Amino acid sequence: MGNVPDTVKHCLSYEQLVQDYPWLRRWLLEEKGVSHNTCTRQEYPKFVKVVEVGPRDGLQNEKEIVPTGVKIHLIDMLSEAGLPVIEATSFVSSKWVPQLADHTDVLRGIQKKPHVRYPVLTPNIQGFHNAVAAGAAEVAVFASVSETFSKKNINCSIDESMLRFQEVINAAKEQKIPVRGYISCALGCPYEGQMEPSKVAELAKRLYGMGCYEISLGDTIGVGTPGSMLKMLQKVMKEVPVNALAVHCHDTYGQALPNILTALQQGRGAFGNLIQAFHKLPTEIKKDLSNLIKTEDLRYTGLIYGFLGRGDGVNLAKVMEAGDFICYALQRKTNSKVAQAKYKTVL
Ligand SMILES: [Zn+2]
Repeated sequence: MGNVPDTVKHCLSYEQLVQDYPWLRRWLLEEKGVSHNTCTRQEYPKFVKVVEVGPRDGLQNEKEIVPTGVKIHLIDMLSEAGLPVIEATSFVSSKWVPQLADHTDVLRGIQKKPHVRYPVLTPNIQGFHNAVAAGAAEVAVFASVSETFSKKNINCSIDESMLRFQEVINAAKEQKIPVRGYISCALGCPYEGQMEPSKVAELAKRLYGMGCYEISLGDTIGVGTPGSMLKMLQKVMKEVPVNALAVHCHDTYGQALPNILTALQQGRGAFGNLIQAFHKLPTEIKKDLSNLIKTEDLRYTGLIYGFLGRGDGVNLAKVMEAGDFICYALQRKTNSKVAQAKYKTVL
């Protein structure tokens, strides 16, 4: 692209330069060795896989235990809505998560559609065996990039958790069951604060190397920003192929959607591939700080930007019906902006 004349560079500040000569920004970035693609790309993938995690991530945080029939009906409604992957439950000990103690009944009770996948969480080999006995065809393990969070959340160090997961992954391989890996606290930990992107990359590499076919990078407490998401992804993408990455964003500070869009831009531009967006149920399930992005909102934004809704089979109206259903069951008002807007227009 040619060089910016030295006289111009020295006479004007950068801000003044780009104000007066907006086309110079690209030249300057290239001279600094910064890919302009990472700063200005506005394109999105043509297709994004949405993984609905509401029935697991949402309902496990409910104070009151949600009746099994409600969970089953919710998952069936989400299946009807055309979502391709619905995380159904978790085979953790009922002592730790009593809200999901009915995991076997839920997994056996849902009407499984042939083109929908229903992964479940399995923290250890016992959970894996229970899940398979209940009919699980896909499982997920979950590690944390924060040592303190790992100890508080799954009661063991990161290294200990890796040993457990290796056991699960080995058993899964024998049965040809795909395993996904979650990384918690990828953008921040409630105990340790900011996380080093290089630590996230290292853990992602370990999980991928162990045999997880997808690594979901979770902003567990929703403190990420597009800037920190970009930094973290750029590190991780050096270790794990982008088509094996997903993001899981909580909306604590209202940044989930911009964070997801940032991730999607990386997925498209860096490797011409897809990145997947994880998020949760269409409804206000939690009033606390760890609120996840709502499916309706993500889906609606997807339609606007054009990365969803191109023959992916997801029906926004039906997703909203599932949201209405669970809101009613939980006696909550929806927190989805799209659902709120729709409700107003109906009135
Ligand atoms: Zn989550």
